[in-house]
Amino acid sequence: MENKASRGHVLVLPYPSQGHINPLLQFSKRLVSKGLKATLATTLFIHNTMQPQSSSSLQFDTISDGYDEGGFAQAESIHAYLNRMETIGSKTLADLIIKNKNRANPIDCIIYDPFLPWALEVAKKFGIFGAAFFTQTCAVNFIYYHVHHGLLKLPITSTPISIPGLPVLELEDMPSFISVPGSYPAYFEMVLNQFSSSDKADAVLVNTFYALEPEAVDSMSKVCQLLPIGPTIPSFYLDKRLENDNDYGLNLFVSDSSVCNNWLNTKPEGSVIYLSFGSMASLSNKQMEELAFALKGSKFHFLWVVKASEEAKLPKKFVEEIGNKGLVVQWCSQLEVLSNKAIGCFLTHCGWNSTLEALSLGVPMVGVPQWTDQTTNAKYFRDVWKVGVRAKVCENGIVEREEIEFCIKEVMEGEIGKDFQKNAKKWRDLAIKAISKGGSSDKNIDEFVSKFINS
Ligand code: UDP
Repeated sequence: MENKASRGHVLVLPYPSQGHINPLLQFSKRLVSKGLKATLATTLFIHNTMQPQSSSSLQFDTISDGYDEGGFAQAESIHAYLNRMETIGSKTLADLIIKNKNRANPIDCIIYDPFLPWALEVAKKFGIFGAAFFTQTCAVNFIYYHVHHGLLKLPITSTPISIPGLPVLELEDMPSFISVPGSYPAYFEMVLNQFSSSDKADAVLVNTFYALEPEAVDSMSKVCQLLPIGPTIPSFYLDKRLENDNDYGLNLFVSDSSVCNNWLNTKPEGSVIYLSFGSMASLSNKQMEELAFALKGSKFHFLWVVKASEEAKLPKKFVEEIGNKGLVVQWCSQLEVLSNKAIGCFLTHCGWNSTLEALSLGVPMVGVPQWTDQTTNAKYFRDVWKVGVRAKVCENGIVEREEIEFCIKEVMEGEIGKDFQKNAKKWRDLAIKAISKGGSSDKNIDEFVSKFINS
């Protein structure tokens, strides 16, 4: 028979993509370390793909997005996917709550990704404490908050843009849904809709830490009670307080970490460029070609994650021709790679998890943002955190090989690269401090737990 958890049972509901599952899963583990029981509910499709293993205090369960056989890829459009997920997801989330009702540990709290705002309505229907968990930076959330509440009018007709607590922003620094009007309307609606529910949530958690964006946190806190609780990165890489926590643990893609480790371990310290564009971005053929030629032309080693769906875009014979200079893999354990001494810089699409991981592991960056919040993250790491450069995009939307080579050189061996390294080390220390016992995020996690336990 199941034992009663001493401090309560949280149900955690991420948006079903790698970049959302990772932080919410990691946060679940933190809550378990604080004496709670946690259940992470993914969609049935993701569950079947990842086959997560439950333990006594961290369990996995499912809801349905209405696409059990193929997930998002099965949907006719983004709009269709989100709509169906709302209808079927609400119902199956309610079923999951009911299923737990008569057990030793009924659900006391739902931590939901505000990309799924309907989850709060379900929580409220059952009288359950509902907490929104924002997976993007406070700055990005505050921009969307301004648009949602009509405080920033679109389309933007004059620049620079001033938002309290944020640095002055040019159009290219804004999330792409704003700077490229009409792009991905369904996703744009989704990110704005986050505030339709979070304004009513019992708590608002953000995967950032106070020292990273104090002005943005202070400013947004005037309109909503925020708790920065990040970085949500396996404890092994930061405070080392959680046992055996050296991996996120749920991968949508398969990797063989020994291949990367063995290769990296033969390379001198700081000599390798690591490149990845995350789990969702799809690059044009031309962009892949420019990257490939830049890497071939540069004198540095490189480790490049090219997802199976992107491989055909590589120039013919690229892999054969690079020999031992580079390694191309379909996926890797990014944390293991970033923490390897051989890595000198991270050429990244600036997804928030990747950026936060690089900051937390002290790795300087070259930003080649693609869309959504990545442009704003690049602005921050270049101008606020000062840990990297952002590659310039040509009029045709491509970052050309000369620019890529130039940026890599700047970070790997330029004078400014040394400053980036120093600053990156500073952010790593601050990240460790935030999540360690008594740190700002650790205290916020405690505050959150006592809030819902006493609600
Ligand atoms: N990731 C990984 N292996 C890879 C590439 C990425 O484990 O080869 C992980 C990475 O550590 C991060 C997540 O996938 O936690 C990507 O999230 P991010 O927010 O950076 O980008 P997204 O995939 O959402 O665009």
